[in-house]
Amino acid sequence: MVALIDAVVVGAGPSGSYASYLLSKKGFSVVLLEEHEDVGKPVECTGLVSERVFRMVKSGSKVNAVSGAHIHFPNGESIHVAKSEKTVVMDRDEFDKDAAGMAVGAGVDLRVGARVTGVTATHRGARVTVREGGDLRTLDCRVVVGADGVNSVVRKELFGEVPGRVISTYQVDASYRMEDQDSVDVFLGSGFSSGFFAWATPAGHLSRIGLGVYHRNATAYFNRLISMFPGARVLGINGGGIPIRYLKRTYRDSALLVGDAAGIVKPLSGGGIYTGLVSASAAAETLEKALESDDLSARSLSRYQRAWKRRLGMELSFDYLVQRFFTMLSDRALDAIYREVSKPEVVNLINSVGDIDYPSRVVLRVLMKNPSMVFNFLRGK
Ligand SMILES: Cc1cc2nc3c(=O)[nH]c(=O)nc-3n(C[C@H](O)[C@H](O)[C@H](O)COP(=O)(O)OP(=O)(O)OC[C@H]3O[C@@H](n4cnc5c(N)ncnc54)[C@H](O)[C@@H]3O)c2cc1C
Repeated sequence: MVALIDAVVVGAGPSGSYASYLLSKKGFSVVLLEEHEDVGKPVECTGLVSERVFRMVKSGSKVNAVSGAHIHFPNGESIHVAKSEKTVVMDRDEFDKDAAGMAVGAGVDLRVGARVTGVTATHRGARVTVREGGDLRTLDCRVVVGADGVNSVVRKELFGEVPGRVISTYQVDASYRMEDQDSVDVFLGSGFSSGFFAWATPAGHLSRIGLGVYHRNATAYFNRLISMFPGARVLGINGGGIPIRYLKRTYRDSALLVGDAAGIVKPLSGGGIYTGLVSASAAAETLEKALESDDLSARSLSRYQRAWKRRLGMELSFDYLVQRFFTMLSDRALDAIYREVSKPEVVNLINSVGDIDYPSRVVLRVLMKNPSMVFNFLRGK
């Protein structure tokens, strides 16, 4: 008799590969299914992450590191903030390959060109239908982990819930060398986005220039953005959805969702690599106990949601509220923010407590030190 697979993980992005790696290291049999033939392609990412990410995934994909950001306001003014520790700019394709390589090295059975088309699950286990090389097969397993991104099939089939807010993005790789290779540019206001912001990230001779919008056509804003970089030649276009509100429920009988599939993404920046890895690690910890005790009921797997929420829940909930508030602000209100945050004492505070993974720390400190700011923002609305 063929032994039942312990876990089928759907999607070899960072969250899926890392969850697979951790589970395999704990001694479980893991099949990792990736619909594309080439892990890491197509790239839909700017590749800005903290060093924390590289403590989890060993990868040589760093292409640059930045310490600051120029934040541009609608009135044409900008502030520059900077931190002592660097934020890494990575080659996302290589990063995903390194993460998948770690998984394979730990014994994971990675199958590429394997597109999952259906999933069923009960408390006794899960059945995954997969199209591989023109054939439709089924895989039976004890648990399925949906790590299949923003348009997750596992979520659609088993959870019946969609992320509450999805930002559409449009990003290009441009042959343009940004003058300041040590800072990203962030553009705020109605000229560049509706409901999010625009950005440019230096990566040597290339720049990644893009923007996000909510319920609008992202390309409509792009012409103005690209005109800020005279002579920039577009080499490639990418983009995709970013789910910035996590699901109410990320577990059920014999199934979990991690990373973008669960909407576990930082709402203020749209960064989801770090949060995806944290959720993957919470998933592996929960599954270790659940598989060992042979209890994959929803009740047992609810520990997963408590585990990732302990690490990220307060941060993501707070950031989501700030994001919603921020996107309601008019250009006038954003300019009022500029007048407050451009004060040297506020810039110094941002520089000392700013953290790309935990932005609530800086938001709360700035507001606590300047309580009049909230009132001024609201007046400027
Ligand atoms: C334009 C843009 C810029 C971004 N910039 C940043 C950034 O600078 N920093 C940051 O931290 N985050 C950034 N993000 C977000 C980041 O890309 C995601 O949060 C991250 O990729 C989530 O990882 P994941 O493994 O959960 O999902 P994904 O990376 O989406 O991986 C899902 C995987 O599942 C596979 N898959 C999907 N469906 C199936 C199926 N049915 N069967 C089999 N396989 C399937 C996909 O091919 C893919 O490989 C950006 C996103 C966008 C769109």
